[in-house]
Amino acid sequence: MSKRDYYEILNVNRNASDTEIKKAYRRLAIKFHPDKNPGDKVAEDKFKELSEAYTVLSDGQKRATYDQYGHAGMNGGGFSSGGFNSGGSPFEDIFGDIFGDVFGGGTQRGSRGRRGDDLRYNLTISFEDAAFGAEKTLQLPRKQACESCDGSGARKGTEIQSCNTCRGAGQVRFQQGFFTMTRPCPDCRGEGKIIANPCPDCHGSGLIKKKRNLSLKIPAGVETDTRLKLSREGESGSQGAPPGDLYVVITVEAHPIFEREGQDVICEVPISFVQAALGCEIEVPTLEGKVTLKVPTGTQSGKTYKLSGKGIVSLQGYGRGDQMVILRVEVPTKLDARQRELLEKFAAVSGEDIHPLGKGFFDKVKELFG
Ligand SMILES: [Zn+2]
Ligand SMILES: [Zn+2]
Repeated sequence: MSKRDYYEILNVNRNASDTEIKKAYRRLAIKFHPDKNPGDKVAEDKFKELSEAYTVLSDGQKRATYDQYGHAGMNGGGFSSGGFNSGGSPFEDIFGDIFGDVFGGGTQRGSRGRRGDDLRYNLTISFEDAAFGAEKTLQLPRKQACESCDGSGARKGTEIQSCNTCRGAGQVRFQQGFFTMTRPCPDCRGEGKIIANPCPDCHGSGLIKKKRNLSLKIPAGVETDTRLKLSREGESGSQGAPPGDLYVVITVEAHPIFEREGQDVICEVPISFVQAALGCEIEVPTLEGKVTLKVPTGTQSGKTYKLSGKGIVSLQGYGRGDQMVILRVEVPTKLDARQRELLEKFAAVSGEDIHPLGKGFFDKVKELFG
């Protein structure tokens, strides 16, 4: 399936401003939001497409990459469709960010502080936790506002002085040929102020490293490379600027007997050649305990059974996969004298009837090669 152009999805032109992009996204997101269109698959797909387009175009760096390389530039850049698109929660996060911005606040502009960095946390979870969801406590080392100086960076009780060189502007003008240009002030490094007495705890940075526990609800159905975004749980911003976001990137451990294929669970069960020939009842493990499976007389290796609804719940919350049980017939690799004797007797009484497919095959060989 070919991907639509992100600008086209948002119905804006290529040099649209951030505000225009945000407005366009908000208008369309409200229109196609799953809550407004319950059960409407088209709306749901539109909404996902929209979220993806907005995620890229609202981020200056991603947008630049996209402008230069198109969709090709988006792959492998940490924006995997497997992870992000299938996630249910990023919707809310984008909403939160947008509405928070519009109604909550104006902290972005006007303040000189820098938004905190985004953090990535690699989390390995068990196969079962991925299937059923889990609650985990993450221990995060994170820079946060220093308590001794309330994040100002100046020793308690001392003043922060406005920089004399730039008069607090953080930038200085200089002349180059006919042009007047600006550059960050060299004396205050663009901060606009000078801390004469730095806080001893944070050495003037206003930030301090702390470990912090964060509880995380992992939704059922996540898979390796699923990214969960936790808005504003990244590093603190400086001087009152908002914190960055935290991305938890999931790795699912291999399971000793189950494998996963999308929402289906695959399980290979070995049975003996005698069981396969005579038929038997076997116990098959599933994610929720064992079930009994009747294997009929004359079952071939590779025979696959479907246990409906025994797979993995969809991350979007509707539907559940199946478990596929593949039977592998084992042929003994060692026979003692008595076993050999019995099998030879068995062969003698059976003649060619013991493998009808084989007879057909060798008849064809005879026809072809004489
Ligand atoms: Zn300065
Ligand atoms: Zn401090």
